[in-house]
Parts: sequence; structure tokens; C-alpha cells
Amino acid sequence: MSNPTVLTTRNLTAGYGGHPAINDISVELRSDEVLCLIGHNGAGKSTLLKCLFGLLTPEAGTVTIDGKETTAESARKITDLGVAMVPEGRGVFPSLTVREIFSLGMHAVGIPRKEQGERVDWVLDILPAIKEFMNRPAGTLSGGQQQMVSIGRALLSRPRILLMDEPSIGLAPKLFQDLLAPIRALQQRDGLSILLVEQNVREALKISDRAVVMKSGMMIWEGLPAELEDNERLMELY
Ligand code: ATP
Repeated sequence: MSNPTVLTTRNLTAGYGGHPAINDISVELRSDEVLCLIGHNGAGKSTLLKCLFGLLTPEAGTVTIDGKETTAESARKITDLGVAMVPEGRGVFPSLTVREIFSLGMHAVGIPRKEQGERVDWVLDILPAIKEFMNRPAGTLSGGQQQMVSIGRALLSRPRILLMDEPSIGLAPKLFQDLLAPIRALQQRDGLSILLVEQNVREALKISDRAVVMKSGMMIWEGLPAELEDNERLMELY
């Protein structure tokens, strides 16, 4: 039997200025799984994530988290339900140190000051490499280090559901597992549910339990990563 669903969309349609970017999307994220979402540039992956995290109001359809409809809720409300997002692009302020970025992040989601030290220690246990650059301005860090900071910041709220929008963008494929293996380990240890948008398809499928493919705003395929090992099948879809 499959795991229960933690996040569902039903017939979700959304876009910009009256032009739909996603059309009639119905997808389920189950508990304790990494669901990999792949598709070409412009397929609508980021638009879907924005709707899930309350950054864009859909034109039609619903989003449900743990059985509660959240379609028109704000990002802050959705964070309170245990969801966090690693946005597309590194999203770190270049002039702030990593420590300052973490402080701001915790302030934004309302983590009490007395719990903040413990939260940072927890994140540094998962991503120990960050310890070496905690006091450096983010703008002086490498792309991979900045991505790690962006993931670390999302983890500070101790989410049960993590939405990640191309966390490995701009990195050499060989750095993918350095960045994502600790997150897969955390997910398996603590039972997180992760929706992972990736262009780095081969590497992403290695750490995913299921996959969905989007094309031109539509969901065109759903299945197991092993079914995409066949290159022809993948090329046909992607
Ligand atoms: P990528 O892999 O390049 O990030 P994506 O699959 O995430 O692409 P989206 O960013 O969701 O795709 O874009 C879907 C469509 O919506 C594209 O045609 C894009 O041009 C359009 N779009 C995205 N953001 C906006 C915006 N802010 N205003 C207008 N159109 C937008």
C-alpha cells in the first residue's frame, strides 16, 4: 500500500496576466517520499511550486495540505503547516553573512529567540560544511555553497514538506550528490516529504522515489524513476 498523501493539487490552473502557465494539474506528494518533477524550461514547474507555497493564487483548482485546503492561503500560513521552499535562484542576500541570513530566516517564520541557537546547530549537523563559512558574506561564497545556504535556511523551520526548485542549478553534475545526499539522508531518517524540481535529471532520479514529467503546462507522465532509466523513454517524454 502506498504512503498517505500529504499534499494534493486537483485540477490546478494558474498563470500570469490571464495566460495560463499550468493547466489542470492534479498531483500528489506522499509522506516519506522524494517526488521528482522534471520538464523543459518554461514547462510550468516553478509556477506549480509557487501555487503550492502560496506565492501565486491559482485561477482554478485546489491545493490541499494534510487534508486542509490551502488554495488561497499566504506563504506564512503554509509555512506554519510545516512546509518550506528552496526558491529558484540562490535567493541569498550577497552582503549579509550566512549567520545573518539564518537569523533573518528564523525571524521571518517566527522562531522564538531562545530556540534559534538549537535550530542553527540542527541545520549545521545536517550540512556541516556550512560551519566553515558562517561568518562570510553570502556574495563571497561559491555557487554550491550559496545553494547549501539556501537549503539550510529552508530547513530552519524544521519542515515536514520541502519544496525545492532546482537546487543544483549551475552546478557541475558531480557536485549534485554532495549537495543533495545529506538531504536525502535526512528525508529517510526523519520521514520528510520532498518535491524536487530538477533539470539535472539523471542525478535527481537516483535520490527519488517517484517522478512526474511536465510539458507545456501539463502533467504528461507519472511513474517510478527506474522506468526512466531507458534513455529513449526519457527522451520521448522530456
Ligand atoms: P524553468 O525550468 O526555466 O525554471 P519552469 O518549468 O519552472 O521553467 P515556469 O517558470 O513555471 O517554468 O514558467 C512557465 C511559463 O510561465 C513560461 O512560459 C514563463 O515564461 C511564464 N512565466 C513565468 N513567470 C512569469 C511571470 N512572472 N510573468 C509572466 N510570465 C511568467
